[in-house]
Amino acid sequence: MTLIIGGGVYGAAVAWHLARRGEAVELLEAKTVASGASGGPGRRGVRANCRDHRELPLMARARALWPTLHEQLGTDPLFERTGHLQLIERPVDMPRAETRAALQSRFGIATSYLSEGAMRELEPDVASFVKAALHCPDDGVAFHAATTRAYADNAVMAGATIREGVTVDRLVTRDGKVVAVATTDGDEIPVPGRLFVLANSGVRSLIAPWLDLPTWNLALQVLVSKPLAENPVRHLVGHASRTLSLKREPDGRLMISGGRLGHWDYATGRGTPIPEEIAANVADAVAVYPSLEGIEIETADTGHLEAESIDSIPMVDHLPGNPHVVYAAGWTGHGWAIAPAVAELLADWALEGRRPELLAPFAFDRFAIGR
Ligand SMILES: Cc1cc2nc3c(=O)[nH]c(=O)nc-3n(C[C@H](O)[C@H](O)[C@H](O)COP(=O)(O)OP(=O)(O)OC[C@H]3O[C@@H](n4cnc5c(N)ncnc54)[C@H](O)[C@@H]3O)c2cc1C
Repeated sequence: MTLIIGGGVYGAAVAWHLARRGEAVELLEAKTVASGASGGPGRRGVRANCRDHRELPLMARARALWPTLHEQLGTDPLFERTGHLQLIERPVDMPRAETRAALQSRFGIATSYLSEGAMRELEPDVASFVKAALHCPDDGVAFHAATTRAYADNAVMAGATIREGVTVDRLVTRDGKVVAVATTDGDEIPVPGRLFVLANSGVRSLIAPWLDLPTWNLALQVLVSKPLAENPVRHLVGHASRTLSLKREPDGRLMISGGRLGHWDYATGRGTPIPEEIAANVADAVAVYPSLEGIEIETADTGHLEAESIDSIPMVDHLPGNPHVVYAAGWTGHGWAIAPAVAELLADWALEGRRPELLAPFAFDRFAIGR
């Protein structure tokens, strides 16, 4: 029997993988499935380009899964291959990009460094000061909330139980071993087998009695425009020196994001956009694509918390002294793309009883002093 805390993409996908392999699974979600980082407007980037090299093997595996995931989950297509372009305007960023192209290619991620002419053939409407790009043709975008809900629906069809509106307050121990979780309603739910703590922004406080996880929470900003007559953005686009990410939505809208932040109120559990951050995000988009001048923003969302880690890659490990309790957090704004691969590996970990090799770089002991 496996208990899972968190109904985002990780909790839902692990629940599905375990349930379809015959495991009894119960998932507890404080709000509703896909209400955290795995929900909200627009789509999520499925990007290998410019990732930490330790995540590239996971990304190569996820890339193989994404194009047909909807067939396994019985939904409309969830992933669209758009290619990712990391735009470069400063000469100082060029050597890094050339080096990265070679490194990513070695990891099996097709990547080209494009000079200005080749870049303009792919993305003709960028400003004249954009001088080069790093191109990953197999990257794309995916519907995050729909994917997460599809994982959850399939988990339930395979026999899992999902309980929404159940907030875990703390992990309950006996003789140092986690034996139950206590909810804010005063219930105690036993952990007869394994426990996955996949609560993203909630993980740090839940495991605080064991570890001081070097993560913190961000209210990442997403802007969605009104439909554009002509959308100049052809790819999933990032930028080497601006806080900017652009996604072309299927309905003519443009999604603008990249890492700007809103304000999070822990008392109400709500995020509020900051006008200066909205303006700065739009200004960068217009600077890089001058034809976006006058773009109108329909939605500004900062309502979906994500945990960032100190070294920008996640922490995936078991609790000290509790090999049956596995936690994962600190996705740092790029946990979506690798989720199908990581969730499968987490399920393997549970069923086979040992950490899959591909997850070893994300162990907590990388912060051990004197290592
Ligand atoms: C605005 C934004 C843009 C992003 N863009 C990208 C992108 O383009 N590409 C990419 O790869 N990644 C992106 N990410 C990151 C990616 O979406 C996340 O890393 C991923 O969705 C995390 O999934 P999760 O299941 O760990 O967390 P979540 O989806 O946050 O799920 C965790 C769940 O746990 C629940 N929970 C928390 N505490 C408790 C508790 N105590 N008891 C019970 N339940 C609890 C929450 O309600 C939540 O539903 C983005 C994230 C955000 C917020």
